[in-house]
Amino acid sequence: MKEFNGRLHKKYYYMIVSLIIVLMIAGLLVDNPVNSRFAVHGVMIVIISGCLLIYPWYENAWMRYMTVISSTGYFYTLFYLYPETWSGFILLCFIPAFSILFFDKRLFYFSLVINFAFIAFTFGYIGFVDKGQDYPYIYTDLVGNVVNFLASQVLLYFIFHLTNLRIQKQRVYYEQVQQAERMRTTGQLAAAVAHEIRNPLTVVNGFLQFYVENPALSQSQKQNFSLMINELDTAEHVISQFLSVSKPDQGEKVDNVDIELVLQDVTELLNMYGLLNDNGIDLNVEKDCHVAVNSIEFKQLFINLMKNAIEASPHSGSVKVTATKVKGHVCIRIIDNGRGMSQEEVKNLGTPFYSLKSKGTGLGLMICFNIVEKYKGTIHFDSETGKGTTVTLRFPLVDV
Ligand code: ADP
Ligand code: MG
Repeated sequence: MKEFNGRLHKKYYYMIVSLIIVLMIAGLLVDNPVNSRFAVHGVMIVIISGCLLIYPWYENAWMRYMTVISSTGYFYTLFYLYPETWSGFILLCFIPAFSILFFDKRLFYFSLVINFAFIAFTFGYIGFVDKGQDYPYIYTDLVGNVVNFLASQVLLYFIFHLTNLRIQKQRVYYEQVQQAERMRTTGQLAAAVAHEIRNPLTVVNGFLQFYVENPALSQSQKQNFSLMINELDTAEHVISQFLSVSKPDQGEKVDNVDIELVLQDVTELLNMYGLLNDNGIDLNVEKDCHVAVNSIEFKQLFINLMKNAIEASPHSGSVKVTATKVKGHVCIRIIDNGRGMSQEEVKNLGTPFYSLKSKGTGLGLMICFNIVEKYKGTIHFDSETGKGTTVTLRFPLVDV
């Protein structure tokens, strides 16, 4: 009920809502004299119908709360207006079921709480004021009815809880599938680009090597050629590294790596290259956190993540890095108080060339995601615009 993007969704919604409204109107018109009771009943129908009809246009939390409150009000009003209709009590038990349709946890709890408050008042009224005059069917076994009501709420809670768990599982699965799809495209893209660039480079490199041996060249010209060859070698090396993203397990050594040492090395490296500006890195690592990974790739992973954290932080802001052992895993967190990201931005992370920086490549995180996946780890981003970002990584712990 939360998404009305498709026309079909809206069509079904309005069909169901029309049916509900027709049933409500039938309940009002059939065998009901026109008096003040009729008027109150009518007003309640107008309010609840209004909420249901305009909900798709203002699909927000406020509207959802309004709908739940008005439906609760509607059922309790019916219960008090028509004491002779004992089935009104059954409807009261089902009130929170209404909010299940919105798949909103807080809304469901809110609905449960107001239903408890209303029913406590109602049972109190019947027990001490009414004393079975209007509600004999409840008064004669008040305790039994209270127990039945409680049981119905517990049942609804379980239905909601299980449905919610299932939906969450499906959401995680869907995100994993999307991520896998991104990785596949990335791999193909990397291979294609690398291949296209590598060939011309090899040709140019070959010619340069041929010329460099020409005895007619002066010493300084030869030096220039050597320089060009060196630069081309570097470019080729970068491409090979890039290719390793698409063919991840090509002969890299897996070591037993101490996270503390890796993080110290990376901090030093970032310092050395002047990437920290005035920023500081606050390391807090538990002893003996070992993981089985390739240490170069692992450093590459942290360089990318820590660089992003620094780039997002204000000048002289600090980035906190912690590593702890949690239930057979090492949990590493990189925390910054920088510009943060919206939910939409977080979803796009890892997409090749996705970058919001003027000089960004948008490849850093794609490589990080690959490395994390390769070593059976997980990576998770918690971020809020303007507040900062926490990247949480988990890797299986290795005994020393
Ligand atoms: P690049 O750093 O070259 O832009 P990345 O793949 O490393 O590419 O990052 C992609 C984008 O994700 C960045 O441009 C930035 O907008 C966003 N991002 C990554 N990490 C953070 C962070 N810690 N805080 C805010 N934004 C971030
Ligand atoms: Mg980056």
